[in-house]
Amino acid sequence: RTLAPADYISLENDHAAHNYHPLPVVVASGDGAWVTDVDGKRYLDCLAAYSAVNFGHSNPVLLEAARAQLGRITLTSRAFHNDQLGPFVAALAKLAGKDMVLPMNTGAEAVESAIKVARAWGYRVKGVAAGLANIVVAGENFHGRTTTIISFSDDESARKDFGPFTPGFRTVPYGDAAALEAAIDENTVAVLLEPIQGEAGIVVPPADYLPAVREITTRHNVLFIADEIQSGLGRTGATFACDLVGVVPDLYLLGKALGGGIVPVSAVVGNTDVLGVLRPGEHGSTFGGNPLAAAVGLAVVELLATGEYQERARVLGARLHAGLLGLIGHGVVAVRGAGLWAGIDIDPALASGRAVCEALLERGLLAKDTHGSTVRLAPPIVVSEEDIDWAVAQLAAVLTEF
Ligand code: PLP
Repeated sequence: RTLAPADYISLENDHAAHNYHPLPVVVASGDGAWVTDVDGKRYLDCLAAYSAVNFGHSNPVLLEAARAQLGRITLTSRAFHNDQLGPFVAALAKLAGKDMVLPMNTGAEAVESAIKVARAWGYRVKGVAAGLANIVVAGENFHGRTTTIISFSDDESARKDFGPFTPGFRTVPYGDAAALEAAIDENTVAVLLEPIQGEAGIVVPPADYLPAVREITTRHNVLFIADEIQSGLGRTGATFACDLVGVVPDLYLLGKALGGGIVPVSAVVGNTDVLGVLRPGEHGSTFGGNPLAAAVGLAVVELLATGEYQERARVLGARLHAGLLGLIGHGVVAVRGAGLWAGIDIDPALASGRAVCEALLERGLLAKDTHGSTVRLAPPIVVSEEDIDWAVAQLAAVLTEF
């Protein structure tokens, strides 16, 4: 260590674009559910890098997979085959009950890729006339930051001054199956939804919504694309949030935790009748499917294949939610979520979400606010029962301080 915490922050302020507003903590290392700052103070990480660290910081199994691959080969490009990609895509397809994977890097790339696949499927399989394909999306969605994706965001701060935008999207209220069906016409190729909306504040739709979306999309010959980039891979107590209501979409979009918190790995997962529309040369990525990413991704899939992480998130999630529900009326107005994922609405008369997160930081708990008055908690799934109880106690204590 050579600099004071304030100096690291100044360097970022002076030389990194100000597209984030971080809490004032400078993390130097992490182990499991805990991180340590440059002064040696420990914090319980209740954000887990927006669920990219579901399996914990420095997970020994994932680190070992990465280390072993680092010593062999890390990048080939897909101009050639490599000996990691095949086993990874086969295992991921099996985990999802599908037969094909399109490997990419970031979540936004998976979303962009799925939009292209859905449009090509619409023109080549469904028979939509050239240039007319439309995709139905939900209000309050968050699918990433690229120009096409923000084209169908309704968050002004994500869009303002970034136009012109990509056409071909229709927005309907989230959770309203009748509105969704009304927006579908003969040129609709896909419905794209988060099964639980993450950035909107961990918004869980009515239990009959996703089954209704599945039924409507099947009846209209429209693809159902589930963006499980944040909700998938164990977070909700199931492999996919769609599993919680027994729904199988046509395409799963995965990212974040698929890279084990080590490398960016994302994927579109589906069956050959849909993903098979892509032909050589039509889509690609220099880094997508690279051997390091595939080795780590395979290790992640193997962790999930045992079901242990899903079960842990389910059991510890019940404990977390029981604790949080006890805070309603004590500075909390509502709690939503599933598994180890909670959106907590703070009474706006008491404090902002940011103020609560700053107070939690003082007590050694890292959490992130969203939409002004919501605090979200999403600790790594390796978190202990004692950590969960401690986190709820810290929140309870903080709410008495305002
Ligand atoms: N989709 C969802 C549901 C997300 O929560 C996110 C990121 O928060 C993304 C897509 C975008 O992923 P990335 O930041 O890796 O591009």
